[in-house]
Amino acid sequence: MNKIRTRFAPSPTGLLHIGSLRTALYAYLFAKKNGGDFILRIEDTDQKRNVPGGVKYLMETLKKFNLNWDKDPYIQSEHLEVYKKYAEQMVASGDAYYCFCDQERLDESRKKQVAEKKAPMYDQLCRRNSTPEEIKKNMENRCPYTIRLKVPENRVIVFDDVIRGKVRIESSNIDDQVLLKSDGFPTYHLANVVDDYLMKITHVIRGEEWLPSTPKHVLIYEALNWESPKFVHLSLLLNADKSKLSKRQGDVAVEDYLAKGYLEEALLNFVALIGWNPGQGSTQEVFSLQELIKYFELEKVHKAGAVFDPKKLDWINSQYIKKLSIDELYQKAIKFLEQKEFFQKAPTEKKSEEYIKKILQIEQDRLENLFSVGESSQFFFQDLEYDKNLLAWKNMSGEEIKNSLEKAQKILEEVSGLEWRKDSLEKIMMEKAGAQRGELLWPLRVALTGEKKSPSPFEVVWVLGKEESLKRLEAAISRL
Ligand code: GLU
Repeated sequence: MNKIRTRFAPSPTGLLHIGSLRTALYAYLFAKKNGGDFILRIEDTDQKRNVPGGVKYLMETLKKFNLNWDKDPYIQSEHLEVYKKYAEQMVASGDAYYCFCDQERLDESRKKQVAEKKAPMYDQLCRRNSTPEEIKKNMENRCPYTIRLKVPENRVIVFDDVIRGKVRIESSNIDDQVLLKSDGFPTYHLANVVDDYLMKITHVIRGEEWLPSTPKHVLIYEALNWESPKFVHLSLLLNADKSKLSKRQGDVAVEDYLAKGYLEEALLNFVALIGWNPGQGSTQEVFSLQELIKYFELEKVHKAGAVFDPKKLDWINSQYIKKLSIDELYQKAIKFLEQKEFFQKAPTEKKSEEYIKKILQIEQDRLENLFSVGESSQFFFQDLEYDKNLLAWKNMSGEEIKNSLEKAQKILEEVSGLEWRKDSLEKIMMEKAGAQRGELLWPLRVALTGEKKSPSPFEVVWVLGKEESLKRLEAAISRL
């Protein structure tokens, strides 16, 4: 059997859609699972749609996700003569024809069809009318021309799709597709087929939006006497309401998710599970790339549209955040923290690496993405403002609150530097509080955070340190 070879064939048109990341991942997983090659091919023959830097961006993004391709990336625009050769070959065999219609005529005919509520298609004027003499004359006069696919009449085109089974389409529904444009560039269809064949691609894995193109491709394979690869069309990603995942409803670019503090591994894990799971009663949801390679099977990819569940993404991301060491978390989180106003305004001593790492230690288990780092811990970075009534546990009077805060001060003053650890601080304070837990801990916690809800006072004093904790207690007392 031939070596398995898949490809990811993006066009450099800007950001990478989250659905395309999934396509790339599935193509990668299938190749690696089968000891095959994963090829990167840049489909840049539609010059108008290319954006500067698009190729570099695609490569960098794939690398971030460790979707490393085999061999050098293949850039279609560097191989124009190859496509032209095959287009001419199809004309010679009678499977394609020259078309000299200009844009104006095509636009008019299209308008007419739309007005008549017909699906717009080329009206085949040059297929029916051009004589060899006319063609020769037009060529001598250097008239611009395209080469079009001569779609056979009255045929049902049938092909197999690994996920969908047999797909059938009437040839009357297929347009005489342009294969080679007047500027000498191939269209997507021609370049795609020629390259899939020449690169010995065994499985064409791509999004469902390309399904309507596949019958045209099948005809090109036939015309060139080439065996087609296996086709695998992945379902679209959907919102919870089953509408197509699109920019209007929220983020769709991989970059948007990275900017929100989702980790690459988590995002990849998440997209793997949109429309696929290992089956056999497995409930595992966190998979490394190696595990995905091990368990992935194309046959288990779901046929129905795949719903994108942002809550699940948050959950998976939180699992990956939990696994990071504090150093790793710091390295990843600091750039997000630095964007926040509350952080920028904080005094220097509250921006030290040591201090931030302590905050991260208490936030780590609660974080769903790195963008929100520090959001619920702003009290660590700034002076507090709060209503003094918040200091009261149940119906405590001002006098009782003051006594409680003074007691807390005294306890903390006596804790030695060595004991200033989360666990021993908790032990000491719980012992001293005895039955008066709420009365001691609530005013203390509010004095330190100014918040109704926050991490425990033991964690907070540990981060703030003795001096700052005592200072905040003093400030609370003076409010009373
Ligand atoms: N260039 C196409 C795209 O941008 C590739 C489709 C295919 O994989 O055949 O998605």
